[in-house]
Amino acid sequence: MKRRSFLGAALGSCALPLAARAATTGRVVVVGGGWGGLAAARHLRELAPQLDVTLIDRQPEFWSQPLSNRWLVGLAKSEWLQHDTRRAAQRFGYRFVAAEVGGIDRQRREVATAAGKFPYDWLVLAVGIREDFSAWYGVDRDSATHTRRRFPSAFPAGRDHLALKVKLEAFRGGDLVMTIPPMPYRCPPAPYERAGLIAWWLKTRNIKGRLVVLDPNLPVISFDRIFRDAYRDQITYLPQARIKSLDPFKRRIVTDFDTVDFSDAILMPPQQAADLVWDSGLIGTGTDGKPSGWAACDPVTLNAADDERVFLVGDLLDKVSPLFGQYPKTGQLAATLGRIAAVQIAARAAGTTAERLLPESTCYVINRPEPRELTRIETSYRWRGDGVIQQTARQQYDPQAGDADLDWARRWFAELLGSAG
Ligand SMILES: Cc1cc2nc3c(=O)[nH]c(=O)nc-3n(C[C@H](O)[C@H](O)[C@H](O)COP(=O)(O)OP(=O)(O)OC[C@H]3O[C@@H](n4cnc5c(N)ncnc54)[C@H](O)[C@@H]3O)c2cc1C
Repeated sequence: MKRRSFLGAALGSCALPLAARAATTGRVVVVGGGWGGLAAARHLRELAPQLDVTLIDRQPEFWSQPLSNRWLVGLAKSEWLQHDTRRAAQRFGYRFVAAEVGGIDRQRREVATAAGKFPYDWLVLAVGIREDFSAWYGVDRDSATHTRRRFPSAFPAGRDHLALKVKLEAFRGGDLVMTIPPMPYRCPPAPYERAGLIAWWLKTRNIKGRLVVLDPNLPVISFDRIFRDAYRDQITYLPQARIKSLDPFKRRIVTDFDTVDFSDAILMPPQQAADLVWDSGLIGTGTDGKPSGWAACDPVTLNAADDERVFLVGDLLDKVSPLFGQYPKTGQLAATLGRIAAVQIAARAAGTTAERLLPESTCYVINRPEPRELTRIETSYRWRGDGVIQQTARQQYDPQAGDADLDWARRWFAELLGSAG
């Protein structure tokens, strides 16, 4: 061995900074194969093909929440809702492991699953949300389990969509209650869109039932108007209805103003970042000094507050700006954050600094299915001179939108899964 190459080999094995060594041996583990995680895995393969990328999700399939309300009332095909993650992994060339992640050892940089342990140099955490039943039931686990089984919201991504559809198809009349979570929660217009579509379903099938919507938030004027104009006999909308107590066995809800008995329900409790974020010690602190419920991150790098090896992506994020607080919790926003995390990791692996990037979001909401009226909500971001993130939001009503929501979703399925579904 010549002296020069010997030195090079010696440096390569122990003296180079870790980022440079990782250029050939880096391992990235992405936990969560939803919008954020799929985007991160796909872009990592493209931006840093030398890295070993493993995506882990407890579910073997990706369930799209966008289009799910349409699908619920028979206005979208099942193949647009449910996609095989393994096939996406094959198309893009990363490894997919279908397993529950039970814990993350951040000291050892290791992810523990039932399928074994996965060491990482960089970890992307994109595990979405959990539902906080303790806000309703305290430590009463029976009520929480019963609610999850009998009255699922289908707001965490997964098979609960199927249970919800069966519930709707079996509904023959009576009061169907839907509770809306307090802000912040995933896709703020989604519960109202779902309410309007269920009302349309009841109306067009001539079902003598009523949807009672209990909303702890201020009234959403545009939907309030639609509910009154188009579905007066199908919806009772009660804004600013804070739940004081809920008995899922007796099927009774008490709010500040009313007592509501129901024959069936879609119950959406408050939301927080998913369990794994809590278990990994990544939850931020609110202004009151208590846990904020969401993951604290550096808004530029997406790194966890105290861990440069961990990147946080998607709906789990806490506030990123003093001007608007949290990013809206939407699929496109999660996916563009996933790409930003991939850019950051690729730069670290190459020993360089990544450019500062910001996400974006477009979200379509169905106001009425017949004739199809949509609202398109766009948010974009830019850096203010002092480094604070500014948000611009635009809302555009389209009375002749056709299938713009479907076209948008299929473009994103192609981006995330390599197939439009
Ligand atoms: C009804 C509805 C309609 C919506 N419509 C739209 C829309 O039209 N447009 C839009 O942009 N957004 C929409 N959204 C919002 C969008 O679905 C979310 O913003 C998006 O799913 C967030 O992506 P994420 O990657 O953060 O989380 P998710 O997509 O929820 O992915 C998280 C993944 O992590 C996995 N996971 C969690 N914990 C573990 C663990 N311990 N081990 C292994 N795996 C784990 C889960 O299985 C899941 O697959 C809608 C949401 C709902 C509920």
